[in-house]
Amino acid sequence: MNDCIFCKIAAGQLPSGKVYEDDEVLAFHDIHPFARVHVLIIPKMHIATLSDCLPEHQALLGRMLWLAPRLAREHGLDAGFKTLINTGRGGGQEVFHLHVHVFGGGDPVRKS
Ligand code: AMP
Ligand code: ZN
Repeated sequence: MNDCIFCKIAAGQLPSGKVYEDDEVLAFHDIHPFARVHVLIIPKMHIATLSDCLPEHQALLGRMLWLAPRLAREHGLDAGFKTLINTGRGGGQEVFHLHVHVFGGGDPVRKS
């Protein structure tokens, strides 16, 4: 997927504010945060949307969600946080590489 910005970030071809990396998953600061803390968790492999996930992606999805509270805690969101996965144009997705938003802190935020 040559034109995918998140593939380029995962490959180290574009800079990011990386906060976590393992063999399958990367997390970095959202470039336009809508809360004091706003990170994105992505799979390193290109999966366009949540709807494109196959049965063999179940463990990967679990890893991404498992990571969310750990990153939130590391960034001081002890009182809680929000997670968001926009799926498809109708779901408000703008970057077509699967990502989980993890955000919170500061003023109360509402984004659905
Ligand atoms: P979505 O609407 O769920 O597709 O959200 C895409 C998110 O990616 C938005 O919150 C953007 O601010 C964020 N974003 C886009 N480009 C970058 C980038 N190069 N680095 C970090 N975050 C980005
Ligand atoms: Zn991609």
